[in-house]
Amino acid sequence: PPDIEQAKQARLAEVFGFDRFRPGQQEVVDSILAGVPTLAVMPTGAGKSLCYQLPALVKGGLSIVVSPLIALMDDQVNALKLQGVAAEAIHSGKPREENVAIWRRVAAGEVRLLYLAPERLLTERMLAALSRFSLGLVAVDEAHCISQWGHSFRNEYLGLGRLRELFPGLPLVAMTATADRATRDDIVERLFGGQARVFVSGFDRPNIFIGVEDKKDPARQIESYVRARPGMAGIIYRISRKKVDETAERLSAAGIRALPYHAGMSPEARAANQETFLAEDGVVMVATVAFGMGIDKSDVRYVLHADAPGTLESYYQEIGRAGRDGQPAEALLLYSAGDIATRRRFLDEEPSPPERKMVEARRLDAMVGFCEAVTCRRAVLLGYFGERARACGACDVCRDPPKVIDASREAQLVLRL
Ligand code: ADP
Ligand code: MG
Ligand code: ZN
Repeated sequence: PPDIEQAKQARLAEVFGFDRFRPGQQEVVDSILAGVPTLAVMPTGAGKSLCYQLPALVKGGLSIVVSPLIALMDDQVNALKLQGVAAEAIHSGKPREENVAIWRRVAAGEVRLLYLAPERLLTERMLAALSRFSLGLVAVDEAHCISQWGHSFRNEYLGLGRLRELFPGLPLVAMTATADRATRDDIVERLFGGQARVFVSGFDRPNIFIGVEDKKDPARQIESYVRARPGMAGIIYRISRKKVDETAERLSAAGIRALPYHAGMSPEARAANQETFLAEDGVVMVATVAFGMGIDKSDVRYVLHADAPGTLESYYQEIGRAGRDGQPAEALLLYSAGDIATRRRFLDEEPSPPERKMVEARRLDAMVGFCEAVTCRRAVLLGYFGERARACGACDVCRDPPKVIDASREAQLVLRL
């Protein structure tokens, strides 16, 4: 309807100060406003909050946002308040009187968005109190916490499946940055009872050139790669602490400012190296997966995976640390079938349930599929997340397509013999 359309555009500009939606946002907003159970999968920083905040404001009344961490709630509430939105959070990090005062405002109809942890929302008292409101929507942020396939499973999230029965007909929406199929299917099953429209978008990082090379002599390959990019900040990922130390030493010996980072180092040494990487120009960080969470350095020019990660999720997250400034950046992976075999062996030896092993094995298969791709590497990566790639041109396969063997012609020749 045109009035909703207008309300939407007006809120986008007036409340959030944006002149347009980012890729994927509008579809999600429309789906929520249409009352469809909606799961939105977008990477970190893509703008998931707006996808439920805007519909909540358009609908009016009180809406609930479920969030797993106090820090996340406070950040969002503060941002909304600055934009003039009546948002509040009730959580255990506040004195009781403050929570009580906030609840009074909620009860008086003065609050549009109320942030709660799942365990607080699901108390019988809260549910009874909320049943007196006509709620706009319930949004579950960081929805992967409901999945045991994710690394951040939260027992309290499991209970959120009850929301469907507790608030029948109420728009239920979920947001996550964790995109693989197993996790996504799990969210749809547990939270939505199997029925939800799933949107995936915003994963493309067109300024990052993606490449894969055969791993032959990694020490030499790493050194020549880094030497060819003097003065540039880069991250080199290695699978083990030992390899991190070896690589950092070798690069240092070659006169390159390379620093190690792994969980075997003292917290002080790690913090010091991270600080140097952030503060100085052109430092190369050699690290295990322990490095990178929450690192915000805009001018990382390359991410070199000297060992293949176990999943495309990790790979995507790690290469995403390059080129945050939007300037050209590169991601190179050194691939060896032996590395994958090692990972498979570890997986076999892991004392985890067979179901879990199967999921992990499939994730590894997808990694191999990406490394051995003969079609656009970006299309394979985004396809894994369920997003369609637009024109690429910025991957090794697109730049240098493999010689195509015309199978039908060969077959004809063979048949003629
Ligand atoms: P996510 O939850 O997906 O990690 P956020 O919702 O925190 O991301 O948003 C990330 C940043 O993007 C915020 O600073 C937000 O203001 C900004 N943002 C969101 N939507 C838009 C838009 N349509 N135009 C410009 N900036 C936007
Ligand atoms: Mg978010
Ligand atoms: Zn391509």
